[in-house]
Amino acid sequence: MTDIRTILHRATRELAAAGSPSARLDAEVLLMRLLGMDRPQLSMHPERELSQEEAAGFVRWVERRRLGEPVAYIVGGKEFWSLRFEVGREVLIPRPETECLIEEVLRFYHPPGEGLRIVDIGTGSGAIAVVLARELPAARVAATDISPGAIAVARRNAVAHGVAGRMDFFEGDLFGTASGDWDIVCSNPPYIREDQYGLLPEGIRNFEPPEALAAGPDGVAFHRRIIREGALRLKAGGRIFLEIGEEQRDRVEALFRQEGVYGDIDCRKDYGGIERVMTARKNHQD
Ligand code: SAH
Repeated sequence: MTDIRTILHRATRELAAAGSPSARLDAEVLLMRLLGMDRPQLSMHPERELSQEEAAGFVRWVERRRLGEPVAYIVGGKEFWSLRFEVGREVLIPRPETECLIEEVLRFYHPPGEGLRIVDIGTGSGAIAVVLARELPAARVAATDISPGAIAVARRNAVAHGVAGRMDFFEGDLFGTASGDWDIVCSNPPYIREDQYGLLPEGIRNFEPPEALAAGPDGVAFHRRIIREGALRLKAGGRIFLEIGEEQRDRVEALFRQEGVYGDIDCRKDYGGIERVMTARKNHQD
């Protein structure tokens, strides 16, 4: 038999020895999820005994973490915009900086978003699409992805968060078979340059899907295509919102300018001070 204090202590030591800088936190998160407890409960009951199954389950999870697997995949979920999203190895783990893209959309469009048609390209877990469907409760939101596994996860997240009735899912390249004109095109597409892929931290490189990350020799292959197709698919006055990687602003801004139909091109920084979300409006042609 072993109790919470002892097993946490042991796991923290093992994870720290394996080089994890967040050993204690990781061990706590794994145990909280396994036991269905929150942090105060965990710290108030250090003497609570674990059953054999619980202890064995925890040891397996800690071992996966020790081998570098991200905590979100082990526990099967990640918080985004204060909602819990199911994640698995078929989807990118939603990142906090992607919340800036949502904030940017909500700076221009306000609830309830009556009549808005939104498409999220490369939806992954559905993080962007599901949050926008919740924040703009009168909008209709399409979500596309080239990965059938991602579409399945995104659908489940839409159901879990009560917005599936206003969402449509399309498996395929970029817009897939999603047709019609859009008020809002948004995407957090893959944006890692080919030559930088090998430099990603192991936890990302060994566990997250390569098709969610890699984006050709210049890292803006998807931005280029989305900006070009967006020029045809956006309504006049509609807006596009794209997440970008570090030092991609100038390139992506040039792509918008080259197209000749976009105005009001702007970029906002994330909370780490990195230029992160590009926006532009499709001009009215007259
Ligand atoms: N929007 C999610 C996931 C971003 S990762 C988030 O912000 O967390 C990028 C996603 O684009 C992955 O799910 C990947 O499968 C998808 N993708 C890659 N190539 C694509 C393509 N050609 N067409 C549509 N989606 C694509």
